[in-house]
Amino acid sequence: MKSPVRIGLVGALHQELAAVLARLPDERRQRVGGRDFWVGHWHGHEVVAVLSRIGKVAAATTATALIERFGVGRIVFTGVAGALGAGLRVGDVVVASGFVQHDMDASPLFPRHEVPLYGRARFDTDPALSAALADAARAVLAHADEMLGAQAVAEFGLRAPRVHQGLVASGDRFVATAAESAALRQALPDALAVEMEGAAVAQVCHDYGVPFAALRTFSDRADDAAHADFTRFIDQVASRYSAAVLEAYFSKL
Ligand code: SAH
Repeated sequence: MKSPVRIGLVGALHQELAAVLARLPDERRQRVGGRDFWVGHWHGHEVVAVLSRIGKVAAATTATALIERFGVGRIVFTGVAGALGAGLRVGDVVVASGFVQHDMDASPLFPRHEVPLYGRARFDTDPALSAALADAARAVLAHADEMLGAQAVAEFGLRAPRVHQGLVASGDRFVATAAESAALRQALPDALAVEMEGAAVAQVCHDYGVPFAALRTFSDRADDAAHADFTRFIDQVASRYSAAVLEAYFSKL
């Protein structure tokens, strides 16, 4: 049975969106708020694909337009992130169980990280949608070597990539020093990843009651080497993962 709701697919990176569009047979472009929204079908399911743009405000605008103007009833986000947790490797994937804004701080009026007037710091993702996305990611990562090819596997030192699930921290900063990621680890000990958009989309989805799930491939360890080979990694690994995971997700829907 086809999904009864339109699904919003939000990518953080151009290469990712290109990989998604290559799989839609019939997409039409609609421009809203200076963004290109691509309306089409994936395995017969109605989808709207769009680039989030970078940072929380841009991502919130994108998510709001998807819901208000395109009527999506579900949002799936893909992108890359810096790994914070111990034992997480570049090439592993995290499916977010929830999001927090690491740069939200209205203390002493409200506890640090709490979003004022919401009474909470953490915005959870939809458990069923996240479970489906994690299943799709595990299926894809089990065959990562064949999909990416020996050269990419060697170049990025990928070894049996794994799927993790947990808290993701978002903020308007590319975290690229060991000192900054250590501070984040201390402030948010259970955060697995850091990126720049997810918590904004999670908050918008919370406001509208729209189920949300997000997958991020670790492109870096949010330390002093975080900028190295970023573009190549996205081309060679992350955008391929994202498209393959979405393909696996839609083929089972
Ligand atoms: N070169 C890119 C810009 C990347 S900005 C371009 O031109 O499009 C960083 C993107 O990667 C954001 O989407 C952010 O969510 C994610 N990201 C990856 N590693 C990160 C880190 N260490 N800190 C913060 N965001 C990170």
